[in-house]
Amino acid sequence: MNIALIAHDRKKDEMVNFIIAYETVFENHILYATGTTGTRIMDVTKLSIHRFMSGPLGGDQQIGAMVATNEMDLIIFLRDPLMAQPHEPDITALLRLCDVQGIPCATNIATAEILVKALERGDFAWRELVHKYKPGEL
Ligand code: PGA
Repeated sequence: MNIALIAHDRKKDEMVNFIIAYETVFENHILYATGTTGTRIMDVTKLSIHRFMSGPLGGDQQIGAMVATNEMDLIIFLRDPLMAQPHEPDITALLRLCDVQGIPCATNIATAEILVKALERGDFAWRELVHKYKPGEL
């Protein structure tokens, strides 16, 4: 599965601790992240992560592009609900695209945990078909 990880600044420690806790699950998947979030995770785990731009510089949009083409399978996006972000339009656009494509997107740690347990169980295995066949082939 292609999984994207994004955490706003005051949520980065929470993200790092979460990924450490489930590292054995995440190591079986292809990981993407916005710049700083990816660096923080790679600093303390053995995970290899494709890092996009930092969120405020366009990283959310880069992940959104993968969602738009139905290449992203799951997103963990720990937003800071108590702090205005300069790239709010990008955040809204990314969440909108997740709804367009029906991509699971956790915006808090409780939902992230449920999604990771579902991932561990293989609940998203059907997404392999999306990657295998082009639109219209199924
Ligand atoms: P960052 O981007 O991981 O580069 O900090 C996330 C964000 O703040 O949107």
